[in-house]
Amino acid sequence: MSIKNQYLLSVLDGLKGRNAHEREYLQAVTEVLESLEPVIDADPRYEQQNIIGRIVEPERVVMFRVPWVDDNGKVQVNRGFRVQFNSAIGPYKGGLRLHPTVNLSVIKFLGFEQVFKNSLTTLPLGGGKGGCDFDPKGKSDGEIMRFCQSFMNELYRHIGPNTDVPAGDIGVGAREIGFLFGQYKKLRNEWSGVLTGKGLSYGGSLARTEATGFGLCYFADAHLRDNGQSFQGKRVVISGSGNVAIYANQKCTKLGGKVIAMSDSNGYIVDENGIDYKVIQEIKEVKRARIKTYLDYVPTAKYVDGCNGIWSVSCDIALPCATQNEIDGASAKALISNGCIGVFEGANMPSTPEAIAAYLEAGIMFGPAKAANAGGVATSGLEMSQNSERLSWTFDEVDAKLKNIMEGIYAACASAAEQYGMKGNIQAGANIAGFLKVADAMLWQGVC
Ligand code: NDP
Repeated sequence: MSIKNQYLLSVLDGLKGRNAHEREYLQAVTEVLESLEPVIDADPRYEQQNIIGRIVEPERVVMFRVPWVDDNGKVQVNRGFRVQFNSAIGPYKGGLRLHPTVNLSVIKFLGFEQVFKNSLTTLPLGGGKGGCDFDPKGKSDGEIMRFCQSFMNELYRHIGPNTDVPAGDIGVGAREIGFLFGQYKKLRNEWSGVLTGKGLSYGGSLARTEATGFGLCYFADAHLRDNGQSFQGKRVVISGSGNVAIYANQKCTKLGGKVIAMSDSNGYIVDENGIDYKVIQEIKEVKRARIKTYLDYVPTAKYVDGCNGIWSVSCDIALPCATQNEIDGASAKALISNGCIGVFEGANMPSTPEAIAAYLEAGIMFGPAKAANAGGVATSGLEMSQNSERLSWTFDEVDAKLKNIMEGIYAACASAAEQYGMKGNIQAGANIAGFLKVADAMLWQGVC
């Protein structure tokens, strides 16, 4: 799709000029602006008030030095980020990523996506994202703790329960959130719900760990049902084997699907009998080992070196749950020619523009990340509510609210797409529905 609206083109050109090297960020913005064309054409206020020019510019970017001491007594240094993108509808909210590929472009693309995603949840959450180019792989618990403490030594100045509430993402799970929370509490001398994804003994919410994976399957199930399909009897391929992937496996198996392949960044496993999420949980969450270890549990399974080949495994449903741009045009075409009927994104921006074009051309179902993986942040929003009320809800209460939110997101995307003449295009619907609420709040709040 190419943009024709002159206002949108001028904003995009300006952005490309100022951020030429921020590839992922420009990719995310272009994808959204393409869908917004009919919305901008229909209402002159967005151009008059330069809503697009403002919404693509983060409200604040913080970059900082993170020095820490490794187990050999050597001083290491990494670069930390927090991008506070948009607070029109609530405090900034979004995860922290620890991975060597983290840079400003990656954090800006994630923060930008988060603005629309959080709006879709219907909860009062603004958008932000953060992280560091620190690689947690192979580090001892002591090194992880010292790193997290140093990271928080700077971050604490910029966050707070009514200002900015970070959470986990790649490389940040319960262990890291615990260390970050402990240091925040010490520096501020206050207990508050400043981070989500906390342990259950100190303010965490039941079902938060499962929420992104479960929510992805609730969304996919609603999308499938709307097209006369279901997970029942379907072959499912899930990339990744982290937090999102593990619980997507659990829920889609419960809904009748069979997960036949999963991966990590080294390679992928294929088990035609179905992969039990509990085995992956033990390998990844308890042993912190590589996915290849699956063969020790199920010797009849197959292991293949290299993670990208996973999309050549024939399946009915694909759930990319690893990282950005993991499905390129060729992988998308392989999925389609092998009979895949739907791609639902657990990871953020896992499909390249060429892959998305291939899905749309083939007319298969496509659940875009900002809608399909919103269950994690939605449940973080529920954790914030419980912290404010000083209450804890049961697993079933939180899970029921999550399911309700995900079905509501699907319905909102489908209805926005139809309203703007793109019936069935859930990608466009997600961008439009997410945008309208934030843009309306920005119009009410004046130029700020
Ligand atoms: P985890 O760190 O728990 O797991 C990430 C998984 O993806 C691991 O299996 C990892 O393999 C693999 N992976 C990471 N980077 C690459 C890469 N460059 N190439 C191939 N595989 C890779 O992260 P999460 O499960 O939390 O996050 C996965 C995705 O879901 C991310 O895109 C994240 O932004 C998104 N997401 C997460 C949410 C959450 O609540 N956690 C909420 C919404 C979206 P290895 O161990 O070998 O690195």
